[in-house]
Formats: sequence, structure tokens, C-alpha cells
Amino acid sequence: MHLSRLTLRHFRNLGTQDLELPPEGVAIVGDNAQGKSNLLEAIYYLETFRSFRGARDEQLVAFGEEVFRVTGDLAADVGEVPPVQVTAAYQKRGKRKKITVDGVEPERVGDALGRVAAVVFSPADVELVSGGPGERRRYLDIVLSLSVPGYLRALQEFRKILVRRNAALKDEQPGGVVMAWDQGLVRSGAAVAAARREWIETRCDAFREYYAAVSGGAGARMAYRSSVHLDGARSAEEVAEAYRDALVASAERERRNGTTVVGPHRDEVVLRLENEGDELDLRDYGSGGQRRTAALALRLVEARTIRETRSQEPLILLDDVFAELDGGRSERVLELMEREETGQVVLTAPKESDVRIRRDALPRWRISAGKVSA
Ligand code: ATP
Ligand code: MG
Repeated sequence: MHLSRLTLRHFRNLGTQDLELPPEGVAIVGDNAQGKSNLLEAIYYLETFRSFRGARDEQLVAFGEEVFRVTGDLAADVGEVPPVQVTAAYQKRGKRKKITVDGVEPERVGDALGRVAAVVFSPADVELVSGGPGERRRYLDIVLSLSVPGYLRALQEFRKILVRRNAALKDEQPGGVVMAWDQGLVRSGAAVAAARREWIETRCDAFREYYAAVSGGAGARMAYRSSVHLDGARSAEEVAEAYRDALVASAERERRNGTTVVGPHRDEVVLRLENEGDELDLRDYGSGGQRRTAALALRLVEARTIRETRSQEPLILLDDVFAELDGGRSERVLELMEREETGQVVLTAPKESDVRIRRDALPRWRISAGKVSA
């Protein structure tokens, strides 16, 4: 599957454009503030229907306009699912978002997620490692929503119930009112926690392997640390049981704090450096380059997940990623990507000399004031 055509209308500074993309991808070179990241943001919008930069939808509408629209045509490669067209439009007034797949609006947005099979690598990814636990939970939630059937629904249900339960705790409602939410909280929360843990456990080796490959042999580890003692709990049933026990055990603390203190909303992904038998938290002790390397490894694991769960080569979007890595690391990332990713690559860089991946194989485009030219 590859993105064969991208049609844009009033998305950020990109104006109205109709671009045909080569199956191998393209390298887009342009000065700062010309629209390179905006273009990748538009493409990735078709994957998750959100900005990968965390912008609100109204920020994506071109200044002075009312509606943006992005359409992607995905063409099938040999032996794949048939071609598909995904469209996303957003209207400021009434905050209306409309998604269509082959012209048909899906029953829920979740049904249209992940069609592009894209992964974005961006300098801001370092926040996955440097930022708070919420950043890593968000990463997991996106990856799992796109790869595990039912995950998104469980997550949405969990969040809804959590809000209500927290409101009851905050208002110091009687225990029975709070407990009325417990069954739903435990069911949805256990599904979320079990999927996250299973994903981390099965991708831990891949993370280690990528970290070592990029760093030139250093050790690093990724683990799921749950606020619920999961110990031997394996099945969704067992995890639910453990969650139920944890709620009972924390009843007094949550009364005191006026909020639910255990559950997937408090869980953490820990990333550690391994150093001669010692372990150091990357967030607290990692250098800038070590954190960048770990962030890259997380994105590479994400790409591998797409390859494994959707049997599709991921579309790799590279937003000026080599700028801040040292020479050795950049070379090894390049080698790795050349080896692993045989799919389409859309790369942006401010300078010709930063276009390194598939140097001669990728056509070169320019972007200036939002306009792309071949
Ligand atoms: P850099 O090399 O610095 O990362 P870039 O080419 O990636 O630059 P973008 O982040 O794509 O630049 O932004 C390009 C321009 O888009 C900015 O000057 C910004 O002011 C403009 N812009 C952002 N949002 C909108 C919008 N809603 N409407 C019009 N222009 C916008
Ligand atoms: Mg940019």
C-alpha cells in the first residue's frame, strides 16, 4: 500500500494542491517555516484524524478560512488489499469533523483509523522519553488503538467511567455511588492494562535491538509499570481481579485524594539504560542523544508493529530527523531504515545535504510558502 495522491485544501499554509506521490516516496527540501512539517501533519492526519503535533483541529484550518479538507488515495501494491480513498474535513463552525472512506462515512471514527499505516519520526519525539508518563501512555494508546481490535473502545469507555467516578469522589458522594462505577471501570481498565502490558512484553526485545543498533551496542530496556500489582495475573480475567483488589485496597487513599488513584491512567512505561549491571532511568539520566535514540527506537518498534499486525509496509514520514544525531548514530539509523523499511518514505529537510536516506532513489521536491514543486 502506498499513498499515490494527496489532495489538500486550506490545511495550514498549504493552500489548494493536488500532489501525485511516487511509490518509493519523495524528499522535500525547503527553508524553515515553509510548510514541511505541515505537509507531513496533513498526511498523518489521515491515519489518526488528529495532528501528530498535538494541535487542535481549528489550528489546522488555514488562517481566514472556515474548512480544511485532506484526501489521500492509497494504491495497492502487489497482493494487497484493494485501493482506498480516505478523506478528512473539518469545519470550524460547529467543530464538525467528517471522515469518509471511499466516500462512505464510517459508523465511528475508530473504524477508519490506521488506513494509511504511517509512522512519523520527528525531532519532538524526544518528548516521548523526556516528558512525563502521560506522553508514553499516549504513545501506547495510539499504537494500540491502531493495532489491537477493541482497544480504542475499551480506552474510551474507561475514560468516560473514570471521569464520572472521579466526580463522585470529588463530591464526596457515599461509597455506594462511587462503587456503582467499579464494575465498568475494572472491565474496561483491565482490558487496557492487559493489552498495554502484553504489547510492551512482546516488543521489549525489539526495543532493545533497535536501541543497540542505533547507539552502536548500548543496552536499554522498556517495561510496563502498573499502578496495580499485576504479578502473575495473565488473562484479562486475572488482571481484572487484580484491579478490583487494588481498588479495594486504595479506597481510603482515594477518598482522601478525591480521585481514583489506581488504574491504567496512572500506569507508566519505564525506559532504562543498562550500564554494567546498573540501570539508569533514561528520563532522569539520559543524555540528549541517548533520549533521541530511545525515541527513535520507540518509533521503529511502532513501524514494526504495523508491519506485523497489518501485514503492510508502513509509510515512513521523516520530519528532519537526522539534524540532531551525531554522525555515527545517523549512519546507523540510515542503515537500519534502508534494511528494514522497503515501503514508501516521505522525508523533509531544510538542506539538500540532510537528504540522506535512499539518496538517489528518492525524487527531490521543493517547498516554498506552502507550495510544493517538483
Ligand atoms: P521548520 O524547518 O522550521 O521546521 P517547516 O517547513 O516545518 O519549518 P511548518 O511547521 O510546516 O514549517 O510551518 C510553516 C508555516 O505554516 C509557519 O510559518 C506557520 O506560521 C504557518 N501556519 C501554521 N498554521 C497555519 C494556519 N492554520 N494557516 C496558515 N498558516 C499556518
Ligand atoms: Mg518543521
